[in-house]
Amino acid sequence: MKQESIVIVGAGHSGAKAAAALRKHGWMGGLTLIGDESCVPYDRPPLSKAVLLGKKTSEQCAFFSRAWYADNGIDLILGESVASIDRGRGRVMLKGNWDLPYHRLLLATGSVLNPLAVPGAGLQGVHALRTPQHADDVARSLHTGQRVVVIGAGVIGLEVAAAAVERGCSVHVLEAGPSAMGRSLPSLAANALVAEHRRRGVDLHFGVRVAALLGDEAVAAVQLESGESLDCDAVVYGVGVRPRTELAQAAGLLVDDGIRTNGLLETSDSRIFACGDVCRYDSGLYGRALRLENWRNAEDQADTAARNLLGHGKVFDEVPWFWSNQYDLALQVVGLPALGAATEVRTLGASQLYLSVDADGLLRGASALGSVREIAAPMKTLKKAMAAGGSAAPFL
Ligand code: FAD
Repeated sequence: MKQESIVIVGAGHSGAKAAAALRKHGWMGGLTLIGDESCVPYDRPPLSKAVLLGKKTSEQCAFFSRAWYADNGIDLILGESVASIDRGRGRVMLKGNWDLPYHRLLLATGSVLNPLAVPGAGLQGVHALRTPQHADDVARSLHTGQRVVVIGAGVIGLEVAAAAVERGCSVHVLEAGPSAMGRSLPSLAANALVAEHRRRGVDLHFGVRVAALLGDEAVAAVQLESGESLDCDAVVYGVGVRPRTELAQAAGLLVDDGIRTNGLLETSDSRIFACGDVCRYDSGLYGRALRLENWRNAEDQADTAARNLLGHGKVFDEVPWFWSNQYDLALQVVGLPALGAATEVRTLGASQLYLSVDADGLLRGASALGSVREIAAPMKTLKKAMAAGGSAAPFL
């Protein structure tokens, strides 16, 4: 009899952790993890923090050594892209013109960076930040006296700004929207974060649009639509990501800003599951479909997807949670602050807590900025309160 096999497409955070979880939960059959990057699966958060500060090398970000995969009977295929899925025959077709059978398939294809769509984006010294190579390139350009322009005041842009200042660069951050981290923070919390950056010397500009990057071979200036220009030695952009759904879409799976799944992370084909940044799942807690782009989600969905590939029937319904580190500050966000109608502010020692409360007085999100020692335990309590329906009585 032929051995049954599970194939995972996407050897990133969620894919690697799902492979580990499958073995942990007792899967003894074939297990193949396929990724189009050439390096072993790695953790992305340190790339925009410790690696830029020279506290860690990008090689040290790997989750497991290459030998670990072999020791656990996981066929790790790197530098190979899955080009299509033949659902009828239960096979994935690789770009290198060969194919593999699957009995169950997990799609963990993550996100792809939005491009910087302005003239000059291809000049030397213009960087994105998602991979170890990007992090090494950015780290090399952050040294004393360098003039760095960061495009996008999202979490990655602000982390780069913080690292650049710590490394002695002068830094401008350009943001088209009216505030920092507009999608994920209430404005009071965003303003406090912006004030911290300004206090440390970052020049933040809101409501500005980049017209072009100027330079002969290497970038030398950023031209704004207003006509103003900023001289620079390096540009780092973080203008969002989009889910990598092409493979799923071409295979005829239901896709809608992410691969659509039910609460079991099962796609519209019961043999195929999805997890991580690419997965848009039905959340019972929020009564809507959610797609989350954060570390905790990649980690937790990997475990749930692995269990459900084995038929455990576990519903995924976590309260969203993410963190960022900028300077000596920890930022943590739980729930969905955007669902709040008002923000209540509480002080925790030297840290601030921002509670996002809806019109019915229910807590929908909480954001905290300050010391990790002061905020970690209260944020855990608030996460539990949100999982239980949203009463934040101890804090309101
Ligand atoms: P990925 O890790 O992107 O993995 C997907 C993989 O699939 C990629 O390797 C991709 O190349 C591969 N792939 C896609 N299509 C194919 C195909 N057809 N064939 C083969 N391979 C394919 N989150 C936080 O909560 N806190 C943080 O501080 C934080 N910091 C971050 C810093 C950086 C620089 C970045 C980039 C992200 C950060 N995140 C953070 C977000 C977090 O890292 C992501 O949410 C997480 O990596 C998502 O995991 P994933 O497995 O879904 O996707």
